Amino acid sequence: MIQPALKDDAFLADVAGGQAEMGSSFRLWWLGQSGFLLQYRGQHLLFDPYLSNSLTRKYEGSDKPHVRRSERVVAPERLDFVDVITSTHNHTDHLDADTLVPMIRAIQARVDRVLGASNADELFPTIVLAEANQPFAAERLAHASPLYQSMNAWDRAEHRPFSFTAVPAAHDQLTLDEQGRNVYLGFVVKVGPCVVYHSGDTVVYDGMAESLRPFSIDVALLPINGKVGNMSGRDAARLAKDIGARVVIPCHYDMFEFNTADPADEFIPECERIGQAYRVLQQGERFSSTEIPR
Ligand SMILES: [Zn+2]
Repeated sequence: MIQPALKDDAFLADVAGGQAEMGSSFRLWWLGQSGFLLQYRGQHLLFDPYLSNSLTRKYEGSDKPHVRRSERVVAPERLDFVDVITSTHNHTDHLDADTLVPMIRAIQARVDRVLGASNADELFPTIVLAEANQPFAAERLAHASPLYQSMNAWDRAEHRPFSFTAVPAAHDQLTLDEQGRNVYLGFVVKVGPCVVYHSGDTVVYDGMAESLRPFSIDVALLPINGKVGNMSGRDAARLAKDIGARVVIPCHYDMFEFNTADPADEFIPECERIGQAYRVLQQGERFSSTEIPR
């Protein structure tokens, strides 16, 4: 089993520590699969967390076992300080009841404790997701009661200090529901002076780079597993270059044995070949925006 760089108490101490010196920079940590915790001025955005064993349990004994490769960074109920959570689509590694229900309950319990229930409504965690997916998410998360910020492609939403723009994702098609709404999204998030792009699960599709380039993306968080509807390491490196990302961080590998990739096989060599700055994180490892190449 792969051990996270930091986990449990050590991880939480890293998140809590050193915030006073951050100024206008942000920090982020990879939580495994497509999960990232983004911290800016004491506020926390959590992208697509998967912090349970629900898929391993669900597929146990089936013809597609989800055997874990890495240990969990942190229990979801310990992330009771999170303000906003994304779900780019309905697949369980991006919308996991066993992660989100205990986390949302823990957040609400902390809000009740600190501020009293009367103020809690405005502070309940918000889940940012595709409008097309909100009914499904509300059913899956029926045992919790988050707020929902539903978005369609190219919509913008403010959750200060995070400004979201929803962008289409093709997993592995640009699928629309019967009302013409994208069911797979990525998010471009403006945070202070920086722009972070979390692609969700997607292949590279026609026009994608052209539509993303105007955002002046600093950090691109891209899958590299190259199967099950996601781009390869080579494609991720090239997309990062094509959109002008100042640094690309790979994800969506090392969670399950059947659906992984080694960044050293395609991603790193292609980044080096085309001159794209990259950073490979271990799970539970911190990245700071002060490390973005100029
Ligand atoms: Zn996925």
